[in-house]
Amino acid sequence: MSTTTLPTYDIFIDGEFVSPAEDRYLDSINPATGKAWYQVASAGAADVDRAVRAARAALVSPAWAGLTPSARGRLLRRVADGLAARAEDLAMLETNDNGKLIRDTRALYGNLPIIWEYFAGWADKVGGEVVPTVGTNLTYLRREPIGVVAAIVPWNAPINLASHKIAAALAMGNTVVVKPSEITSAGILEMMKILDEAGVPRGVVNVVTGTGADVGQALVAHPGVDLIAFTGGTSTGTAIAKKAAERHVPVLLELGGKSPNIVFDDANTSNAANGIISGIFAAGGQACTAGSRVYLHNAVYDEVLDKVKERMSGIRLGDPLAAETEIGPVAYEAHMNRILDYIRIGQEEGADLTFGGNRVSEGDLASGFYVAPTIFENVTSEMRITREEIFGPVLSVIRFDTEEEVVRQANDSAFGLVAGVWTQNVNRAHRIAHQLDAGTVWVNTYRALSPLAPFGGFKSSGHGKEGGEYGVLEMTRLKTVWVNLSEAPTADPFVIQK
Ligand code: NDP
Repeated sequence: MSTTTLPTYDIFIDGEFVSPAEDRYLDSINPATGKAWYQVASAGAADVDRAVRAARAALVSPAWAGLTPSARGRLLRRVADGLAARAEDLAMLETNDNGKLIRDTRALYGNLPIIWEYFAGWADKVGGEVVPTVGTNLTYLRREPIGVVAAIVPWNAPINLASHKIAAALAMGNTVVVKPSEITSAGILEMMKILDEAGVPRGVVNVVTGTGADVGQALVAHPGVDLIAFTGGTSTGTAIAKKAAERHVPVLLELGGKSPNIVFDDANTSNAANGIISGIFAAGGQACTAGSRVYLHNAVYDEVLDKVKERMSGIRLGDPLAAETEIGPVAYEAHMNRILDYIRIGQEEGADLTFGGNRVSEGDLASGFYVAPTIFENVTSEMRITREEIFGPVLSVIRFDTEEEVVRQANDSAFGLVAGVWTQNVNRAHRIAHQLDAGTVWVNTYRALSPLAPFGGFKSSGHGKEGGEYGVLEMTRLKTVWVNLSEAPTADPFVIQK
């Protein structure tokens, strides 16, 4: 039991908040103030084991396995209603936890019920199919729950990212163990109270908090886990995939990005400038979708960049809870230092720092983790600031002249998560969208996301989809059943059947 005077969160296993096996708790820091505002259990392998056992037991319990698909759908809709009623609390929690703007978290969590309602709709709509084999066989396909899903999520939109995984998994009859980021656990734990009130049976969703080293690794290695659904950094994803390969456990990986945002000479330059700002400065650039590489056609280079800089000159940095704030702090101190390191690296590599480039520490912002929106020009494809994910408000701007040149440069990246294209030429829009190595391409928009649309990257940005029917099917295993309908004597046992 924690002895702090701060609010304290325990882990959630088998429908109850319980203390971790070892009496360890971590401070969670509000990035706008730099101060601890709650403590969360720092669990370990024994707690993971307990949670996975609870999830395995729930998987076959009458309370869960006995529900009809329609009843599962109704249950998820009740969760959606509960989330709608507490949307403001969840928005506040997340803003205090990761520094995301309250206007952004209000929009995100005002929409949270849509995620749950969407997946609720799938609960009774995934059937099998009959395969037209020849002969006397009936051959059909069954979509079955995979089993226990380990859902590992990062800190930049924890409740939202966890919801995509949990709701899709539950719609298909799986059970879940969630591992939040150690710096943003409160929102996901509060969500468990809503699931409980909605009537989600014990053990169906469990949450084990703590570090990646203690909880994440134990969860990935646990023999009772049947699928690992991970969102996070590429190097962590690689480590998880290697570990999972030892047990041949499937993994869904939603990883990092270094996404190109391309503005052609026929673009609406005001919309493109807004799209660039939305791509890299919204959420302080802490989005997997960050449009951190901007390619500007020579003919509109100055016009677009002037518009971006003009808008950014009046940008309101400050308290993420204030309605007028446009950029808040980055999520934690070590992350701020990492971003500042990249800004130094960019300068050392010879790029021109033409905007921002510093920690902002005047007045009230001194104790928080604020980084000024930063723009580098005269950047080359070889520089680390063009190749590596910074996950902060740092933009690399590159000139181009031809379609061929910009497609080559945009695709010259280890990542392939998303891309933006700004043009008013419809032929060009589709032509470029088809050539880009990105799981999602936005034309004349950026940061458009919906649970209805599949999302997932190519190359080092991961594999597998979240959202849409494809995301739902990821949460199932496909079984083929052959039934011989004939009463005739068995055919030659030495010849393959068909
Ligand atoms: P990390 O990869 O560091 O962490 C993600 C989660 O994995 C955390 O819960 C972390 O725990 C846990 N973890 C860390 N090490 C291990 C391990 N060895 N085994 C199992 N779990 C582990 O990412 P960040 O939290 O820093 O998040 C930022 C990254 O997430 C960026 O690269 C971003 O692009 C990506 N992301 C991708 C999205 C997508 O949909 N493609 C969406 C949002 C973000 P802990 O933090 O407690 O140590």
